Amino acid sequence: MTERLIVIGGDAAGMSAAAQARRRRGPDDLEIVVFERGHFTSYSACGIPYWISGLVTDREQLVARSPKTHREDYAIDVRIRHEVVGIDLDRREVVARDLDGGGDVREPFDNLMYAAGAVPKKPAWARTDAAGVFGVQTLDDGSALRGWLEAEPRPRRAVVVGGGYIGVEMAEALVRRGLSVTLVERDEQPMSTVDPDMARLVTEAMRGLGVDIRTGVRVTGLTERDGRVSEVVTDDGPIPTDLVVLGLGVRPNTELATAAGLPLGPTGGIRVDRQMRVSEVPGVWAAGDCVETLHKVSGMPVHVPLGTHANKQGRVAGINISGGYATFAGVIGTAVTKVCDLEVGRTGLREREARMAGFEFVSVIAESTNRAGYYPGARLMTVKLIAERPSGRLLGAQIVGWSEAAKRIDTLAVALWNKMTVDDMTALDLGYAPPYAPVWDPVLVAARKAVDALAR
Ligand SMILES: Cc1cc2nc3c(=O)[nH]c(=O)nc-3n(C[C@H](O)[C@H](O)[C@H](O)COP(=O)(O)OP(=O)(O)OC[C@H]3O[C@@H](n4cnc5c(N)ncnc54)[C@H](O)[C@@H]3O)c2cc1C
Repeated sequence: MTERLIVIGGDAAGMSAAAQARRRRGPDDLEIVVFERGHFTSYSACGIPYWISGLVTDREQLVARSPKTHREDYAIDVRIRHEVVGIDLDRREVVARDLDGGGDVREPFDNLMYAAGAVPKKPAWARTDAAGVFGVQTLDDGSALRGWLEAEPRPRRAVVVGGGYIGVEMAEALVRRGLSVTLVERDEQPMSTVDPDMARLVTEAMRGLGVDIRTGVRVTGLTERDGRVSEVVTDDGPIPTDLVVLGLGVRPNTELATAAGLPLGPTGGIRVDRQMRVSEVPGVWAAGDCVETLHKVSGMPVHVPLGTHANKQGRVAGINISGGYATFAGVIGTAVTKVCDLEVGRTGLREREARMAGFEFVSVIAESTNRAGYYPGARLMTVKLIAERPSGRLLGAQIVGWSEAAKRIDTLAVALWNKMTVDDMTALDLGYAPPYAPVWDPVLVAARKAVDALAR
C-alpha cells in the first residue's frame, strides 16, 4: 500500500527531507505532499543580502528548485500558498488553508515532517503600519525591500536595527547600493557571534566603509510621516531615515507544533532525537530552524538557525522516513560571514559560552598574514583560540581577516570536531606556498601561542 508523507514548509529542511525520501522510494510506494505558505520552494534566504546589494541580479537565481521542478521531475506534490493551520495527531491529519481563497482541506499522513523554520523577532515598537520597514527572512521580504529601493522617492538613508550577521550583511548591501547607513546595536559590539575583542575588528572595518555604528543604543520606537517611516527613536535620540531593516534574530516557529502537543526543549525549539524524530511522537519528524540540537562541545541543547544544519537534518529525516538509518551528530557552532572584504569565521565556544559550560581555559590571539609577507596581497589575519586548561583540547576558534580567512575556520572546525589539542595542532601538515600562506600558517602560529599560554 502507498504510504503518505506530508511536509510542512518547502524550503531547506522540508525539501531536503522530501527529496531524500523520493530518491529512496518511488511515487507508487510513497506519496509526498508539501505545503508551503509562500510562493517559492528550495530558495536561498542566505543569498538575500547579495540580491539586495545587486551582486546577484535576478531573484530566480536564488531558487534552487521551483515548485514546478519538484512536481515534474521528482513527483512531489508541492502546494504553494497553502498554510497548514492545524495538526491532528489522533486522526493523523493536517488542515491546510489555501491562502488564495480556496478554503481548507484535511489531508491524512503516515509520516509528518515539520519544517516550518523560524520567525523573526519583532518587538512591539517594530509592529507598525508605516511603509518602509522590512524584514529579510523570505524572498517576498527581499522583493518588497528591492521594490522600495527602486521606487520614487528613492531612499537615501537606511537604519539597520540589530548587528548580528544578517544585520551586518544587510548594512554592507545597502552601502553598496549607495545609501547612507546607520547600524544600531544594543550590545557594546555588533557581531556578538564572536568575542568582543574580535568583534571590535569588525566594527572598525564597518566604520571604515562609512557605516555609522551606534552601539549600546536601544531602539524604542519608529516615527512616521505621511504613512512612511521617518525616524528610528532610540534612547540616544532619534535617527532620521527613509528605510528600516530589522535584523533582531529569530525564534523557532513552533506555534502549530505546540498546539498539537509536540515537545519543546529548553531553548524553545522542538525536541528531536538524533534521527530527527520528534521525541516520543511516532511518525512525526522535525528539522531545521524549528528544532533544537546538541552542541557537541558544551553538551547543551542549542538553537542554531543555519541553512547548513537545516539541509543536513532534513536529509537525515528523509532517509529515516523512507526506511533507512541516518543520524545528525550535533553542531559545533561553525559560521562564516563577511563585511565587504573583511571575513569573519568562528567555531566552537566563545569565551562566555566556555565559561557557562564550566570549562577552565586559556585564550590567545595571534596576528599573522594570509600569504607570505613579501607576496603581493598579503594582509593581516587575526586568529583567536580558546583551549581547555590543562588538557589543551581546542574549545573554540575565531578568525577575522582581509582575505582567505573565513574558510580557514574549517581547518579549526575539523580539529575541534575531532577533539584535537592545540599541541597536536602545531604538527598539522597544512599546505604552504607563498601565494596561500606564510611558512607558518596563521592556524599553526595561533596553536603554538596557545601551547605557550598553557605552559605558563
Ligand atoms: C538574510 C539571511 C541570510 C542567511 N545567511 C545564511 C548563511 O550565510 N549561512 C547559513 O547557514 N544560513 C544562513 N541563513 C539561515 C538559513 O536561511 C536558514 O537557517 C534556513 O533557511 C532554515 O531552513 P528551514 O527549512 O528550517 O526554514 P525556512 O528556510 O525558514 O523554511 C521554512 C518554510 O516553512 C514555511 N512555513 C512556515 N510555516 C508554515 C505553515 N504553517 N504552513 C506552510 N508553510 C509554512 C515558510 O514559508 C518557509 O518557506 C540566512 C537567513 C537569512 C534570513
